[in-house]
Amino acid sequence: NLSERLRLVASFAEQGTVLADIGSDHAYLPCWLIQKGQISRAIAGEVVKGPFESAKRNVAKEGLTDKIIVRLANGLQAILPEDGVENVSIAGMGGSLIATILENDLERLSGVNRIIVQPNIHAKAIRDWAVSHSWKIVNEAILKEDHKIYEILVLERGEESYNPEELLMGPILLKECSPVFQEKWQGELNEIERVIQVLTHSAQSEEAKAKRQQLSATKELIERG
Ligand code: SAM
Repeated sequence: NLSERLRLVASFAEQGTVLADIGSDHAYLPCWLIQKGQISRAIAGEVVKGPFESAKRNVAKEGLTDKIIVRLANGLQAILPEDGVENVSIAGMGGSLIATILENDLERLSGVNRIIVQPNIHAKAIRDWAVSHSWKIVNEAILKEDHKIYEILVLERGEESYNPEELLMGPILLKECSPVFQEKWQGELNEIERVIQVLTHSAQSEEAKAKRQQLSATKELIERG
């Protein structure tokens, strides 16, 4: 059955729309959405041959070849004008890769009114991309599954500005401040503290090294005299 993560991503697809799922792997997300009757048609895009084949196999197995087109293509190039794609989903990749995929073929988004992304890390890259391309954040979600924390962002067209904290942590997630959100950022804080500890120690040892050198040089001078 579909993971809780992908079910939450799926929940943001608009009723009755045509959706392109980029980096679809087994095409689980579009299959689920069609079977639930939530979307009318789908494109499943994959750039790697293996996942592309398994997407095709799975769509055929579920008897959905008339509703889901599987394409071997890089990023948004899976979307053709005649598809009439309205929603785009990109899940399970790093935020920087997702932002690059969006940036690389902007014109393919011309008919798209909603983008649903689930970055595994670095969601900020997507928020930065959104602001600079006139997309705003209309919804965000965070969940923990199998000891991993995932963020989901929903973008629609519009101008909106965010402060640096909102860009980093998510304007809606920051406002909600859920227990999972707190856990995520406590983890980030712990990591920063660990790095500071390491830096402090190594700075001290550098300093100690310099001090020791100074000490022995001075010693030499004194002993010579
Ligand atoms: N979206 C699914 C999910 O969330 O469970 C699959 C995630 S899987 C970790 C990432 C998939 O994205 C891989 O199958 C990979 O081949 C595909 N991918 C990576 N870069 C891509 C690109 N530029 N265009 C299309 N697919 C890409």
